[in-house]
Amino acid sequence: MSKPSWVKELAGKRIKKLFNEAEEQFPEHPERSRRYIEIAHKISEKYNIPISKDLKRKFCPNCYSYWVPGETVKVRIDSENSRVIYICNECGGERTYGYSEEKLGKNNQ
Ligand SMILES: [Zn+2]
Repeated sequence: MSKPSWVKELAGKRIKKLFNEAEEQFPEHPERSRRYIEIAHKISEKYNIPISKDLKRKFCPNCYSYWVPGETVKVRIDSENSRVIYICNECGGERTYGYSEEKLGKNNQ
């Protein structure tokens, strides 16, 4: 029994909205941001809606902390392996992305 497409569409919109709210609330209420992201994550699981790549970089998959480079997350460039590593300042969780995903550096090869 799959859910009707409009339900998924609505849930998708809600996820985006929650991320927007998380971004807005972060400077003054980072704990609210975390809550919003947690809710967004639950909606995504419940309705089987993948969170977009862009949004996935904005939170910690372990503790749902909203990621702001230099504040709540460290971003390291591992040029040897063409990777970018995100390290959560809250829980120490790591997430790694390839350069190609990042759309960084277009090398002329
Ligand atoms: Zn974390």
